[in-house]
Amino acid sequence: MITSRTRYNFVLILLAVALMVHYVNASEPKIHGIKAGMSTAFALETDSAFFLIDAGSPGQERGIMRKLKKIASKPLKLIILTHSHFDHFGSAGKLRELTGAPITISAPDSQALVEGRTDIPLTHSWGRVGKVLQPVVEAILRVRPVIPDIILHDGDSLDSYGLPATVVFTPGHTPGAITIFLREGTAFVGDLIVVHPSLKAQNYYATDWRDIALSLKKIQMLNPTVIYSGHSQKPVDRDGFLHLSPFLPAVKQ
Ligand SMILES: [Zn+2]
Repeated sequence: MITSRTRYNFVLILLAVALMVHYVNASEPKIHGIKAGMSTAFALETDSAFFLIDAGSPGQERGIMRKLKKIASKPLKLIILTHSHFDHFGSAGKLRELTGAPITISAPDSQALVEGRTDIPLTHSWGRVGKVLQPVVEAILRVRPVIPDIILHDGDSLDSYGLPATVVFTPGHTPGAITIFLREGTAFVGDLIVVHPSLKAQNYYATDWRDIALSLKKIQMLNPTVIYSGHSQKPVDRDGFLHLSPFLPAVKQ
């Protein structure tokens, strides 16, 4: 027989579950992929603000701002750059001018950013073509140096800025390439992987292919639930990512 006491307890349990679900959902940022020229910027929307992971190619600031305004009327709190390549930092300076949001990058990539440099010492496959075209593309797009406001270190928490996330160093594509790992398990790996024409470990541009292999292993071991690359608005296939083999060319370095 169901007593009123049992019914009361049941309602209490339901209430507690509902509150828990609400709390978990409220603390998880919503993810909005924004096509931003040659790469993808990600707007992470919390209850009170936006956080931007990467800032697209130069000249994308208006488009990014339009998209943010369309989603919600919230301030941009932080611009987090995964690495110093112009297709990821290109509009960062202009976005800071428009919003006042500080720009963050890892310590090892900060000098390249200050000088507006996109270093790609090692190339493979279509990366070789990219390297030949790079100076022309940079001149056309008018790549400008960016002075960062905040320098990130491996293991830094972004909680104090209002984003439940950790900075994980994943060097190899650049010396200071990072992955942003949200507390709930989503990983933004930047150019650690490529997605076009198919999902692979980064095999076009590197400063050190072995470092990329180690970084890939590191993120695979962390077992992310959802993975975003820096060049697609859609998450990559999780199982495919967890089983990716690194690209290790048989060359003397
Ligand atoms: Zn890159």
